[in-house]
Amino acid sequence: MRAAFRRLTALVLCFLLVFDGIILVRVSADAGGSPRVALTFDDGPHPGRTKRILGLLEKYSVKATFFILGCNAEYYPEPLKMAVAAGHEIEDHSFDHVTRGKSAGELKAGILKTAEIIERVSGRAPRYFRPPEGQCTPALDEALASLGYRTVFWTLDTRDWTGKPADAIARDVLKTVKDGDILLFHDYTCPGDNTLHALERIVPELLSRGYRFVTVEELLTKDK
Ligand SMILES: [Zn+2]
Repeated sequence: MRAAFRRLTALVLCFLLVFDGIILVRVSADAGGSPRVALTFDDGPHPGRTKRILGLLEKYSVKATFFILGCNAEYYPEPLKMAVAAGHEIEDHSFDHVTRGKSAGELKAGILKTAEIIERVSGRAPRYFRPPEGQCTPALDEALASLGYRTVFWTLDTRDWTGKPADAIARDVLKTVKDGDILLFHDYTCPGDNTLHALERIVPELLSRGYRFVTVEELLTKDK
């Protein structure tokens, strides 16, 4: 009887250690061990593509950052509202994607108009700006500096905007992605649903590799 009790105690202890081990692994990964990546989407919102991408992000419970155009948000406020409601980060990508040839004053007016739309929908003023086509001009630098925006580019261009097939996008991203990457996608200008289909492979695979999906602000301001 005593021996049986000892065996039972050992079994329970063993179970607790294994169980505890799982919790400890999870805690340490959440607290600092897991690699992080930020998904970013430029040029939207789009009435169809943005919604479909939001559906995929919801399926895997991951958050992303949308660098929107004010003019598209005026036409298609619904997907923007959905992105806000789902807890995604919304930032500024200019009003109409045109920056060349504009003065600092004109650019500032467009950025502020976009910021107004974002703040009206989300209750939060944008803090980051992604220059259209990744091009900075002295006038744009001046406008952004006067508004206190932080400029954000990317570290991994998926090239979805070129019409690249979904399989090739996913293959190249999964081959080169690393901890701390900011991935550039598009939810408006990419042809078809290549971006969505690439994400259908990228997101679950990165989750299985232990990646955490964070917003740009989380990536840039919070330690692991
Ligand atoms: Zn763009």
